[in-house]
Amino acid sequence: MTHEDYMRMAMEEADLAVKEGNAPFGVVVVSKDGRIVAKDHDRVNALMDPTAHGEVNAIRKLCQELGTLSLKDMTFYTTSEPCPTCLSSCIKAKVKAINYGAEMELTASLPIKARDLAGQSTHPIKIVGGILASECMKQRERYRR
Ligand SMILES: [Zn+2]
Repeated sequence: MTHEDYMRMAMEEADLAVKEGNAPFGVVVVSKDGRIVAKDHDRVNALMDPTAHGEVNAIRKLCQELGTLSLKDMTFYTTSEPCPTCLSSCIKAKVKAINYGAEMELTASLPIKARDLAGQSTHPIKIVGGILASECMKQRERYRR
């Protein structure tokens, strides 16, 4: 499985999010050995919860399932650059890395670049952007006319 394979799955999750009435954001979580351990998506509208972003949902589900507060060996693939809420949540969960597709929207409610914010964290988290960036961007824009 390549970065692009995981990102395509995250894009399928983003499609699912929209089908369920939410914003087009998807996430896939991969363990150290390359296994997919979680897939989730934005559920803000479905749950009537402004914090129910894909990353946050995946963290809640995984930590409960595994009975842990630490996802230290996990890598997150997200269709869009994580917002500060999601990045903070990943840092709290000690996530190893976040690989994202499209850059954050300029209209985001708190448009702080993930890498800038991560640079201030005492927990090292690797942020890599640009995986299937144009596909992820096109998908996001298709749903946000
Ligand atoms: Zn978020």
